[in-house]
Amino acid sequence: MRSAARVVVVGGGVVGASVLYHLTKAGWKDVMLIERDELTCGSTWHAAGGMHTVNGDPNVARLQQYTINLYREIEQISGQSCGVHLTGGIMLAGTRERLDWLKMAQARGRYLGMELEMLTVDEAARRFPLLDKRHFVGAMFDPVEGHVDPYGVTHAYAKSAQIAGAEVVRHTRVVDLKPRSDGSWDVITDHGNVHAEHVVNAGGLWAREVGRMVGLELPILAMEHQYLITEEVPQIAGLPEQLHCIDFEGELYLREERDGMLIGTYERAGVPWSPAETPWDFAQSLLPNDLDRIAPSLEVAFEHFPALGEVGVRKVVNGPFTFAPDGNPLIGPIKGLRNFWVACGVMAGFSQGGGVGLALSQWMVEGDPGSDIWAMDVARYGDWATLAYTNAKVRENYSRRFRIRFPNEELPAARPLRTTPIYDRLAEAHAVFGEYCGLEHPLWFAPTEADAREDVTFRRSNAHAHVAEECRAVREQVGLLETSNYGKIEVSGPGTEAWLSRVMANRVPKVGRIALTPMLNERGKLIGDFTMCRLAADRVLLIGTLAAETYYLRWFERHMPPSGVHVRACAMEHVGLSVAGPASRALLQSLVRDDLSTAAFPFLTFRRVDIGMIPALVGRISFTGELGYEIWVSPDYQRALYDLLSEAGAKHGLKPFGGRALNAMRIEKGFGNWAREFRPIYGPCEAGLGRFVALEKGDFLGRSAAMEERASGGALRLVSFAVETADADAIGDEPIWHDGRVVGWVTSGAYGHRVGRSLALGYIPAAAGSASQGFEIEIIGERRPAERLAACAYDPSGAHMRQ
Ligand SMILES: Cc1cc2nc3c(=O)[nH]c(=O)nc-3n(C[C@H](O)[C@H](O)[C@H](O)COP(=O)(O)OP(=O)(O)OC[C@H]3O[C@@H](n4cnc5c(N)ncnc54)[C@H](O)[C@@H]3O)c2cc1C
Repeated sequence: MRSAARVVVVGGGVVGASVLYHLTKAGWKDVMLIERDELTCGSTWHAAGGMHTVNGDPNVARLQQYTINLYREIEQISGQSCGVHLTGGIMLAGTRERLDWLKMAQARGRYLGMELEMLTVDEAARRFPLLDKRHFVGAMFDPVEGHVDPYGVTHAYAKSAQIAGAEVVRHTRVVDLKPRSDGSWDVITDHGNVHAEHVVNAGGLWAREVGRMVGLELPILAMEHQYLITEEVPQIAGLPEQLHCIDFEGELYLREERDGMLIGTYERAGVPWSPAETPWDFAQSLLPNDLDRIAPSLEVAFEHFPALGEVGVRKVVNGPFTFAPDGNPLIGPIKGLRNFWVACGVMAGFSQGGGVGLALSQWMVEGDPGSDIWAMDVARYGDWATLAYTNAKVRENYSRRFRIRFPNEELPAARPLRTTPIYDRLAEAHAVFGEYCGLEHPLWFAPTEADAREDVTFRRSNAHAHVAEECRAVREQVGLLETSNYGKIEVSGPGTEAWLSRVMANRVPKVGRIALTPMLNERGKLIGDFTMCRLAADRVLLIGTLAAETYYLRWFERHMPPSGVHVRACAMEHVGLSVAGPASRALLQSLVRDDLSTAAFPFLTFRRVDIGMIPALVGRISFTGELGYEIWVSPDYQRALYDLLSEAGAKHGLKPFGGRALNAMRIEKGFGNWAREFRPIYGPCEAGLGRFVALEKGDFLGRSAAMEERASGGALRLVSFAVETADADAIGDEPIWHDGRVVGWVTSGAYGHRVGRSLALGYIPAAAGSASQGFEIEIIGERRPAERLAACAYDPSGAHMRQ
């Protein structure tokens, strides 16, 4: 074992081996992998090896496509077979909703270049003769699905890396990790130490324990998972290899294994394994079978695929593997730890392992993952994702693995966890709550307690009429919105202005003013959007996305000067309420001594104001497009503020509104949101934020790329569409057609109640010019005519919010 290496990868499962290979491919050859036992001995060796391209997040789907295409490459380099069986796969729908879901997945696949095909039940039965047609209403076929040999894949990665110069050390356990002051690490093993510039935690089932060596509690939990392999199934004897099959209603997956079938299930009564600590003596081990637990799923399997009930069981496998609360991997660098990286929580190692290795290696070598991996970024979790929260969410996610998550569906586990002081007041007003970063926030308000629940659907729900009323109140009178679920970061110190001017693309506003600003990476792509509120010469409050708080802080840490600037997350120190609508000024004016006229308190003012007895920070800004004010107070004042505004608002027609109405109104205004319109694959001009990039102010991060983008105009355009729909609006990720070709994708959609039209925001090529006709947006399998709007749908001049 060498005593020094540029990188030590801890863990030789499929993920660690992929990271090792990709590091060598990216040019770092002085790398090593340390495995405590044999390669694959964690969750990898007993996996069913299934692989598929379909994923709810298009960017993850792209990395899954990459993974599957990689197997030929590593087979060629290593000479090790990956045992690839590219059988193709069939996904079966037993309900109309599931068929709708498949149509939406097929549509999304169009702009990813996936050739997914909808099938009738008869066609499905021809391709997968084991099914009983009576239980299904349709299906989708994916040619890029199948299974691999987990041992072969892991060894093919490892051998390919070794050929390029990497070292693979087996039977050596990393027992501790000690940072040095220069950011490098002493990797302490039971067979001597290694000095490494970088460490990657690819510890799989033990990733939590490896994290704890450096004081990190990763939100990961292992679940027991069972599959069985039947004896020979006579009905398929002599036929070509059966397709990979997912039966959503049965919550089952199936594939051929020799002449029998492998049947796996994500049972509802899933059981966590080693919830607090993973035993170190577990290697190449299985767990005791518990067929009773999966008996209900097996009964469905025998009903849906009768031939399987007629044959015996050859083998049962029960093994653990890990999940993050949302089921997506956790990858990337960790805030507060230099040169420490994670690649864990990968629940589909054979679909995702290659993409995870590619993204992480590029991040380490180039400083950027090279693609949009927000859905997998470890920074999407904050302090709220504790061990117990993770336990509740992972169990929920596991039990729902094959269930539909409707776009308006809120899941119940781990709730309520974080609440603001007005939570009970809002509940009394019949708020229907959503959860975001563990925090409860109102989505919409029902007229009575009995009405305060929402039908889950791909179409318009029972909330539609109530959201319409909320939008009407904001348009005609005044609405009250809780805004506590925004991220807030305070920047202070003598270097505040100079530093912010370097990390943000816009100019830092004067004291008492607000400026909107994109934040760009070195490639000139969007990695954040903020309102910068200047409280003092040396103090600025940044307001942005709560879910991205750790992501922002990690970026700031990387670009922090040695002194003069202090950065601090303070989201819950400033809880918020916003009043919006033409009567918002009169309402607020009735409670404050300051003059709120436009002359004295113009658009984009930010100032300390006393509202009644309550000290507050007030910004004149609007995400609804109406005249409006955002009010920030410390939590101890929030109830008093809510009561005061509610009481004084009665004579102005004040009505509470929630996130659904806000979303509809911001789409009417063409205002983007992080993770939807703003992601690291778009430049500011493409996203319509070009006017907030102050190229003239001097150097800042991403400036040269932003200059190039301004000169070229960028390749894409974020545009607004009005869509002719019936009872379903776009929700995001639908393909945009133009003249019979798929040219782009939707990022958000909603019914615009103020304009009385169904709307969508989406990206199309800049080369599409200004054409407004000939567009269609595919909503639940139907191509709906769409008009591209020349400007946003509501008040394009911005007169309402500036009045
Ligand atoms: C029954 C079952 C069926 C599955 N079916 C599929 C499927 O069909 N398709 C699919 O894609 N996925 C499937 N999976 C999931 C798949 O197994 C995982 O996604 C994958 O194994 C994760 O790999 P990993 O490298 O992250 O973790 P692991 O395989 O757990 O590897 C981690 C490695 O790190 C080593 N390690 C940990 N700590 C240390 C240390 N301190 N020092 C040295 N070494 C250390 C461990 O010994 C281990 O070898 C299945 C899982 C199970 C249990």
